[in-house]
Amino acid sequence: MPLLSSKSYRVGRSSTGLGLFATQPIKKGTKIIRYFGPLLDSKNKKHDAIENKYLFQLNDRWTIDGSVRKNVARYINHACKPNAESDVNPRKKRVIIRSIRKIEPGEEINYDYGTEYFKAYLKPIGCKCDACEKKRAKKKAEARAEKAALKAKALRKAEKLAEKALLARKAAKALGKKKAAPKKKAGKAAVSRPTKAARKKRAA
Ligand SMILES: [Zn+2]
Repeated sequence: MPLLSSKSYRVGRSSTGLGLFATQPIKKGTKIIRYFGPLLDSKNKKHDAIENKYLFQLNDRWTIDGSVRKNVARYINHACKPNAESDVNPRKKRVIIRSIRKIEPGEEINYDYGTEYFKAYLKPIGCKCDACEKKRAKKKAEARAEKAALKAKALRKAEKLAEKALLARKAAKALGKKKAAPKKKAGKAAVSRPTKAARKKRAA
């Protein structure tokens, strides 16, 4: 099966910078694009010194330097739950990106860069792929819910304490009245505030 026409995808803005997007529906198992560039030989000291994030290791000896402009496949971003994969043929020294499920127009094409790349480049800054973003959002929501639950619990506790304090105050007041009652009779009524009616009477 030949590779897809370059009209089937386009470079566009993605959440992490640029990415490769389908412009047409792509069937599962389609050879989308070749990842290509100069071959680097690990036995060659000059080659071995080359370092960039577009290196695609084929085996212990050969690596593709995909940093060349013509290699449009270098725009394809990593995803932990991708819609494509890299089909590596070390003997032919060829890498082809192939869909592993149907890809809808407008959908970003991605494949799993592998554990080594993930550990070296993505884990330190946090993977921005959809699956990881969703995981992060879920964790955030869970943390928020837990915080809200704790807050509600603290509020309930405070309410209960306030209620208890109120009851205690009421009880103390009731007790105080009982104690104060005889004092009133003892002629201290004059010190108490006059009622509204009494004040009016006085003003008149
Ligand atoms: Zn991820």
